[in-house]
Amino acid sequence: MLVSTPIGNLGDISERARAVLAAADMVLCEDTRRTRRLCAALGMHARLFSLHEHNEAARIPAILAKLREGRLLALVSDAGTPLISDPGYRLVRAALAEGLPVHAVPGPNAAVTALVLSGLPPAPFLFLGFPPAQAGQRVRHFRSIRKAEEAGLSASLIWHEAPHRLAETLADLAATFGERDAAVARELTKRFEEVRREKLPALAAYYAAHPARGEITIVIGPAPEARPSEPKSVEEALKEALQTHSMRDAVALVAATTGRPRSQVYARALAMKEEAGKDAALPESAESAESPEPVPKNTPDP
Ligand code: SAM
Repeated sequence: MLVSTPIGNLGDISERARAVLAAADMVLCEDTRRTRRLCAALGMHARLFSLHEHNEAARIPAILAKLREGRLLALVSDAGTPLISDPGYRLVRAALAEGLPVHAVPGPNAAVTALVLSGLPPAPFLFLGFPPAQAGQRVRHFRSIRKAEEAGLSASLIWHEAPHRLAETLADLAATFGERDAAVARELTKRFEEVRREKLPALAAYYAAHPARGEITIVIGPAPEARPSEPKSVEEALKEALQTHSMRDAVALVAATTGRPRSQVYARALAMKEEAGKDAALPESAESAESPEPVPKNTPDP
């Protein structure tokens, strides 16, 4: 049983979560000290076993054996919904592969709470976990998402981030995504809950001057230009692709993006090349009379 626990406010524990934790033969948890504190605050005593990123794979056979015996096992993480930037996925896969029943007690989750408070479009959204901690990898990660947007992805984007990296991450986000609406959600459900909703560069400047503390989730709005555009004609797509690709690669790219057979795209590319060659061969007077769009590459200097 996957049991969600509060992300900062004990009052958010559900009746069902309490009941399952109280009845479980074993509670698997990331940090036994932390879950012991939670159980104590709920006035219960549970049998705790650690299951974290580093021992999950090794513990799976023993856990599956308990499940096969019909034991009730609860899996919790330090906070929020297990598996979401937390351990448990490998165990769930292994249990499902054996046909063992898996159920969930849903509850608090920082990403969804930040999203609904952000004022940004709630659907579709893309949850991306923590960005890489290393600066170069982080920038590459953001650029790969930006590229996906250029190829048509249009979704609100959500990341977790540690407070000591917030300012640099926001600076990288602003450099990659520009003047995009965004929100920084801090200490959700806790006493000092705060959600700042501004454009990315303004948020980057604010947190560069006011170092953040506590737990943080970042949400950014969808790319404004990523609305579905008119499909390009094969000619338009080829002209664009040929500026940066060889004939062969351009044909493959355009066939893939337009869904046209490769042979047809290739034939069109050859015809375009021939037309361009003819235009270039025309004398100046004929060119201005017959070809309103001379191919710039071959146009002689004035
Ligand atoms: N499984 C958790 C969930 O469902 O929300 C997320 C676990 S992840 C390891 C922890 C990260 O979630 C934190 O570093 C922070 O980025 C985000 N987070 C957790 N609690 C939060 C809160 N109260 N306010 C804002 N972000 C929070």
